Amino acid sequence: MDSGSRITRGAENAHVNEDRRNQSTRTTNRRRAAESALLDELLLPHAPQNENVGSEGQTLLMRALARLERQEDVDAAVAWAPGPGGEPRVLAANPPEAADEIRPVPELYDALMKLERAQRLTDPNPELELTALAARGVSAVAPVPGLGASPAAALLLFAKKAGRPLRPRTIAILNEVATGLARSMSTSLALDRLGRLDEAVAQLDRQASLGRLVSEIVHEIRNPLVSVKTFLQLLPHRLEDPEFHQDFRLVVNDEVQRLERMLDDLLRHASPRTSPPIADIARIGDAVRTTIALMTYRFSAQGVSFEHQISDDLPALRLSEDSLRQLLLNLLLNASAVTPKGAAISLHVDWSPNHANHLELKIFDEGPGIDPNTATRIFEPFWTTRPDRVGGLGLAICKRIVDDAGGEIEISNRRSGGACFRVELPIAD
Ligand code: ADP
Repeated sequence: MDSGSRITRGAENAHVNEDRRNQSTRTTNRRRAAESALLDELLLPHAPQNENVGSEGQTLLMRALARLERQEDVDAAVAWAPGPGGEPRVLAANPPEAADEIRPVPELYDALMKLERAQRLTDPNPELELTALAARGVSAVAPVPGLGASPAAALLLFAKKAGRPLRPRTIAILNEVATGLARSMSTSLALDRLGRLDEAVAQLDRQASLGRLVSEIVHEIRNPLVSVKTFLQLLPHRLEDPEFHQDFRLVVNDEVQRLERMLDDLLRHASPRTSPPIADIARIGDAVRTTIALMTYRFSAQGVSFEHQISDDLPALRLSEDSLRQLLLNLLLNASAVTPKGAAISLHVDWSPNHANHLELKIFDEGPGIDPNTATRIFEPFWTTRPDRVGGLGLAICKRIVDDAGGEIEISNRRSGGACFRVELPIAD
């Protein structure tokens, strides 16, 4: 390549990198904006229509009215509070027929909310809007503030003798009741809001789990398809090779059955992962053998040599044959993605009385190895260095399979270059 085209390629790469950075910044910004809108929605003071008094608030109001009505100069006590649509309505009345004395309307309710404390309406010059209340026989009113700017309720008292001012002691009690209500109703509204927050978080959690589940299903379906595709691509060149045909039949049959089992499992449990049956010895051997057969063809088509050492005796493990196959396939596909042509990949499956309580799997590749700065992140779902940023589930699935089986997975870089994935799987009792 001459230096001119190198520079052009360099410029193109810089452009592509810039595009990717912009795209990832846009995605991050979009996610942050969505998160902050959600937090705003959940945490900031709510619009009145979202802050209506629940049944607990109604009980508090009833108790407060009963206490007010016991005052000897009080004929009836009524509480207005915002309904589901934000419109004020009668939420409690003592006696109940007092609810019909005057209809709650937003203008009157707003005027009540402007008051700072209880007020007698029989005094000269009440607030202009409140004269309408006085004209309908209301003797005293008190606002009950709610959370933030939204009111919780308004209390209205009717005197036994219409037009006669309520005693100062009754007004003092009205004030005391309104202050007490403001405290307990705020707590009840806050608890309501927390309840809604919990529901919203649970809903988000369910959506996230569903998203994860779908991604995992797609990932798990893609692997058998990769296997079948590899064989189909090789078929035209191996038409005369009976051994290839035999392997082809076995692997494709196996992979199709695996797809079938996965879909059956999904239908039965609506989740591919229920407690996995403990695999028996023969099937573990099968899972290892068919995976090796599949990968042997893939590696040879890729020009990578593949060496494997498998113990003759394989014990029963605490995971299903499909999970073991998935684990091996994910690790070997990752190795194949990073190992250059002409280099080698090895798989060791070791179990002997020396490792009596676990089976050891090791996969060595000759790729770039794992960057120590990102080594702690590679098992996170959706963490990937793929240029298109699509993927990042392979190792997360491996980790879960190994965790479910009670085993361990660790990574190291080889001194000679390349990565080593080591998995310990406990044997079944
Ligand atoms: P994906 O392969 O789709 O990116 P994985 O979860 O399988 O998802 O892997 C996550 C990341 O871990 C890869 O993008 C890569 O950066 C790193 N990784 C995985 N296996 C190897 C390996 N054998 N050598 C070097 N890096 C690896």
